[in-house]
Amino acid sequence: MLNRFLKYNNRTNIKKVTSIFQKYYYSSSVIPKAPLLINGKFVESETKEYIDVINPATNKKVLQVPQATQSELLAAVQSAKNAFPGWRETPVTQRQRIMFKFLNLLHENTDRIAESIVKENGKTLVDAKGDIFRGLEVVESSCSLTPYMMGETLENLASGQAVDTSTYRQPLGVVAGICPFNFPAMIPLWSLPVALVTGNTYVMKPSEKTPTAFSIMAELFQEAGLPDGVLNVVHGSVDTVNFICDNEDIRAISFVGSNQAGEYIHERGTKQGKRVQANMGAKNHASVLPDADKEGCLNALIGAAFGAAGQRCMALSTCLFVGEANTWMDDLKEKTAQLKVGNGMDPDSDLGPVISKDSYERIHRLIHEGEEKGGEVILDGRNIIVENDEGGNYVGPTLLKLPKDKLNEFECYREEIFGPVLLCIEVDTLDEAIEITNSNPYGNGCALFTGSGAAARKYQHEIDCGQVGINVPIPVPLPMFSWTGSRGSFRGSSHFYGKQGVDFFTQIKSVTTNWPENMVEKGTKISASMPILK
Ligand code: NAD
Repeated sequence: MLNRFLKYNNRTNIKKVTSIFQKYYYSSSVIPKAPLLINGKFVESETKEYIDVINPATNKKVLQVPQATQSELLAAVQSAKNAFPGWRETPVTQRQRIMFKFLNLLHENTDRIAESIVKENGKTLVDAKGDIFRGLEVVESSCSLTPYMMGETLENLASGQAVDTSTYRQPLGVVAGICPFNFPAMIPLWSLPVALVTGNTYVMKPSEKTPTAFSIMAELFQEAGLPDGVLNVVHGSVDTVNFICDNEDIRAISFVGSNQAGEYIHERGTKQGKRVQANMGAKNHASVLPDADKEGCLNALIGAAFGAAGQRCMALSTCLFVGEANTWMDDLKEKTAQLKVGNGMDPDSDLGPVISKDSYERIHRLIHEGEEKGGEVILDGRNIIVENDEGGNYVGPTLLKLPKDKLNEFECYREEIFGPVLLCIEVDTLDEAIEITNSNPYGNGCALFTGSGAAARKYQHEIDCGQVGINVPIPVPLPMFSWTGSRGSFRGSSHFYGKQGVDFFTQIKSVTTNWPENMVEKGTKISASMPILK
């Protein structure tokens, strides 16, 4: 019998199937279960506790994710710990070569991974491919990370002696990742390739809502030749997260997700002496000046506000229309209304459903609250029905206009909505737009649309957000830079990927040597005072 998990993952060529799916050929379970990866083997958890993975387009259960048991979690960490000495001694060039093979496999398997993302996350197929591609770029850059990994040397530090000092970057050991649902491929790849190339071993916890993309990628890492134990995959929710925070063998945690979870994980993990980098929630403000290219600006706003149904941490969720740009709202409405909401596998869909019924209801509640408190719903995406997917969590693009002087009275303004809702606000000046943006506690991203270099210069200098776009709606830096969300959107000291990613996953060792040509003369007086290196 062809197993459901095999079909689920779109693997039809049985001969090519590796261990991850073999278990499932013969499985009699109706709904497949996500496997753990421990010490190079994909295994079914022995737990009795499962979390359902629900297709947001249908609200039907498609997979079950185990809450890994304590002994499975310990085994995953032990396997990473055992693999560490061998992996850190593997030449960095060899580690990069494995990454390079993985990169090719990722290209070849993009369709399969993308389909799993559509099924579990709901985003459109083309957007799911973008999710993979942006992760793939981090993999590409990790294939040539060595310049960032080099140390420094200074020679001749004491006169009459041969004292030199060098620094080396060395891996930390076992590190862990905790991921959100919204980018099932890209976000695990923000940290994993950098951690592996720098010589660490890894325990990954994908989101319990969208685990399959990473299961497939873990399989591809095996095909690429990653030694057993270097990458382990565990599943679960809060219990697994608490285990990762508390386990003494895990040296660092890369977290991406909400503020509620991120602040908690940062506090709990750092209390245990771990490094923690936590990328968290956002409320990204766009500012539009009347001298901007109107057509380009409105198209960019719409893509950034409603793509992935607004479930991107860099989605533009608030737009400040400055001066006469206020008059553009009618055109914004007309263009936005043309977006097609539908199943992610339908090539005509511009946006799919939101992740869960809870999220669907919360978004409806927030729009309702905004309206009740005096906001004006310019375009209403509530209660829409998508043919053939009547049970799905579909919310249409919504434009909600709020009064600028009462913003903090609106929960929909204070909180991240994480849905296809763009808050529109009229302001008089660029200064006012900057002031409102800077007063918001989040600092992930922002964007200015303008035709003026002077306005752009002022904005990029004065705005207090970590990632700034000038006529660029989603200013996500490519991986030769680092992700630089700030203020309430980030906890930690080193950011994800790029130079800062290498900083996060390495510790610096300095070595001071003295190799004189002539031995110390007999009878030289011993000194117990601090040496002065003249
Ligand atoms: P989430 O915080 O609910 O889940 C993220 C991870 O944390 C999951 O693996 C989950 O198991 C775990 N988790 C959830 N609640 C927890 C708790 N109470 N205690 C311990 N662990 C917990 O986030 P999500 O809903 O999956 O993702 C959406 C959020 O992620 C949004 O807030 C979005 O802005 C944010 N995000 C931020 C970035 C960024 O780079 N700043 C990128 C993507 C997503």
